Amino acid sequence: MQHMFSFEEGNKDMKDLLGGKGANLAEMMNLGLPVPPGFTITTDVCNFFSDAQTRTGHGDYPAGYTEQLEEKLQELERKMGKKLGDPENPLLVSVRSGAAISMPGMMDTILNLGLNDATVLGIVARTGNERFAYDAYRRFVNMFGDVVLGVAHEHFEEKMDLMKGARGVSADTELDAEDLRELVVMYKEVVRVHAGVEFPSDPREQLRMAIEAVFGSWMSERAVLYRRINHVPSGVRGTAVNIQSMVFGNMGETSGTGVAFTRNPSTGAAEFYGEFLMNAQGEDVVAGIRTPQSIEELGNVMPDVYAQLLGAKDALERHYGDMQDIEFTIENGRLFMLQTRNGKRTAHAAVKIAVDLVNEGLLTREEALMKIDANALNQLLHPRIDTGARRDVVTRGLPASPGAACGRIVFSPQDAEEWVARGEKVILVRRETTPEDLGGMHVAEGILTAMGGMTSHAAVVCRGMGKCCVAGCASISVDKHLKVCAIGDLLLREGDVITLDGSTGEVMLGEMPMIKSEISGDFFEVMRWTDDIRAMRVRANADTPHDAAIAREFGAEGIGLCRTEHMFFDEARIDTVREMILARDLPTRVIALGKLLPFQREDFYGIFKAMNGYPVCIRLLDPPLHEFMPQTDGKIAELAVRMRVPFEQLKLVTESLHEVNPMLGHRGCRLAVTFPEMYEMQVQAIIEAAILARKEGIVVMPEIEMPLISSTNELKMLRELALRVIRKFEAQHGTLDFAYKIGSMIELPRACLTADHLAEYADFFSFGTNDLTQTTWGISRDDVGKFMSEYLTQGVLERDPSETIDRRGVGELMRMGVEKARSAKPDIEIGICGEHGGEPASVEFCHSIGLNYVSCSPFRVPIARLAAAQAAIKDRDSRVHGGVIVMPATPRIPSVISG
Ligand code: PEP
Ligand code: MG
Repeated sequence: MQHMFSFEEGNKDMKDLLGGKGANLAEMMNLGLPVPPGFTITTDVCNFFSDAQTRTGHGDYPAGYTEQLEEKLQELERKMGKKLGDPENPLLVSVRSGAAISMPGMMDTILNLGLNDATVLGIVARTGNERFAYDAYRRFVNMFGDVVLGVAHEHFEEKMDLMKGARGVSADTELDAEDLRELVVMYKEVVRVHAGVEFPSDPREQLRMAIEAVFGSWMSERAVLYRRINHVPSGVRGTAVNIQSMVFGNMGETSGTGVAFTRNPSTGAAEFYGEFLMNAQGEDVVAGIRTPQSIEELGNVMPDVYAQLLGAKDALERHYGDMQDIEFTIENGRLFMLQTRNGKRTAHAAVKIAVDLVNEGLLTREEALMKIDANALNQLLHPRIDTGARRDVVTRGLPASPGAACGRIVFSPQDAEEWVARGEKVILVRRETTPEDLGGMHVAEGILTAMGGMTSHAAVVCRGMGKCCVAGCASISVDKHLKVCAIGDLLLREGDVITLDGSTGEVMLGEMPMIKSEISGDFFEVMRWTDDIRAMRVRANADTPHDAAIAREFGAEGIGLCRTEHMFFDEARIDTVREMILARDLPTRVIALGKLLPFQREDFYGIFKAMNGYPVCIRLLDPPLHEFMPQTDGKIAELAVRMRVPFEQLKLVTESLHEVNPMLGHRGCRLAVTFPEMYEMQVQAIIEAAILARKEGIVVMPEIEMPLISSTNELKMLRELALRVIRKFEAQHGTLDFAYKIGSMIELPRACLTADHLAEYADFFSFGTNDLTQTTWGISRDDVGKFMSEYLTQGVLERDPSETIDRRGVGELMRMGVEKARSAKPDIEIGICGEHGGEPASVEFCHSIGLNYVSCSPFRVPIARLAAAQAAIKDRDSRVHGGVIVMPATPRIPSVISG
């Protein structure tokens, strides 16, 4: 088995085996770019080493490893005409880790390995540059001491400061060869004192120890934690080790080093973007000791090298078809390429670069789309904090809904509404939010909660509203009566100004400068491509005409979920809803429902109008009725007076309605089994609104949806109820001139298991993965965030299934639901409207099981459009390359939106 590969033997597609760094060094070398020779020890060796470490407490190497290492070393020595440890003409190497994914927290780099008291003299003799030789030596002892022997960098810094003080200089460049030679002695003493060992002088021993340190760092606490937090699957391969002959940027005034992006990573502009420092080695550019010069300056300093660098930059971009992040060194006027990788970029830059690369003929549209991180599009859709601004972060919570918001803090929804009416901008701070807070949430710039997770009420509602939210900020204690909150020692009062960053979870004091987001031409261009490619349609979850209009702007092809209860919380309506709930007989209830009907009709009409030509799926009343009732004794007392009922009676009714999570009792369709007249009113309002809209030439496609169905009989009964209302209507007003559908949410495991039977009574299904996740996992929505995050940190879970569809639970049930439903009714339309419908990995899964559409909050529609296109491209590519064949998605209706 081959345990290591010379750069000539590798290529960019060997990332799993050679790590990102090794694979790209190999690729650059094979492109004919000037790369210092070297070789890569594979990730397999790391895995072998880590397994042995876990089993026996110390790492080990596979058979043949030592021999191969010696062979590769000798091959390198031959190429370089130098030998490791040769006092006459010593070879020096760098040792760097490089996993398949970029992995902070791991041992990174050792430069100048191979130096000792003898070889340093060889370097002096060869270069005639004593200062350079001892500078390299003291850096090596420092780095090796730090990363291999675990001696804190500050101990070396102390000695450096002592030396600078003694010589009366302020920069290390002012120390001469003799000073640096003395420093080497002092640094070795530091190692002896703090590590308790002699600094190893044998270069082969140095190399052995450095390799072992790289492999050991793969399982270090920091690296393991990083992988856990970032959901890197535990099976992912370890790191590779790159051993490369050194080139020196610190040989004098014709040497230097730099880092650059082939395009501007924040704007995407096609300009070379980077920095360099003459007479410097690797870390000096980023260490900030000297101020680096801007890359185009290199054209003045060394025109030939710059021209060569520009050539390399263009070659790399063309070759990789993507913006590159490169590192180079110039040794005595000769350019060497040390690293290339796809450059990190803002969403704004990602979109511009994608369009430019297609226009420049470097990429096809499909290839360009695959290079954009769908989630990052969030940055383009919400206002954001000016990147240049200094952040005064006081605490941090969960980044529950992206964007940034700034305003005065208030502690109740009522105060929010009052303050906003006075012209103030507010941030609503709550322990947690409930449906009663909706009014205040609606007017607030952003929401901050102390409790709750990524699927808490605050998080879900804010994402729906496209409003910034930081949730579950455990370090805040809120006292809504005193109207204060405490973050550690810091006390914030009503009216204090804070800024929230919903994309990072940061909470800052004062007002931060904001940049309003724009949907640029490039962005629309990219979105247009996605529409030509994806198989699934993308709808939006929207409850109001206003949200429906935003959804259309973002390209939604219909409403996938209109939660009718959200219309009930409006101040003008809530008491009528309560009258209906408290009605003791049918006639009283019907009177109250009659008052609600015009409100609902008006809302539905507005939504139909905004969605002209697209389907609108309206879910009939779902939540348990206690959510509409006041929650505190004070509020109950107020309502008792308004309604002229005794306090005790009202309190009793409210308590009797109370449902606990996971709410499987008197909610959803079961409300209508007991009170059919509620759904009758809603169906009537939908049909009347559709007729009104039709009269104005609007094309309506209403879909009437039953929530929380668990039994076939429920659906049968409610379908008949809806049809009865419609037929009665037709008997009075003539046949309807539009098509409608009646269908069901699938949000309980049993509905998945019986989808073939349910299909008999449904024209469509929509997966409600919020409830389906809770009921599959057997936990309540409030607990999802807390439970999942605890499980994540304990390593019980690799990913939070409330954020992405959990394939061995919820996902498996969905797959079964789709198969069963289509076995009974092949053409049945199936979508998803839970929060997962806007999450890229879940969108990909939905494509793979053949859903017709995904539905998500309006602000996630562009993300879902891109994710659906990416899923279709991957699917097609895997067919072409003989990969796993997945169920075909049904053909989509072309979108008319093109921006
Ligand atoms: C769901 O359960 O996924 C759903 C969309 O319904 P709600 O979030 O309103 O319970
Ligand atoms: Mg639900």
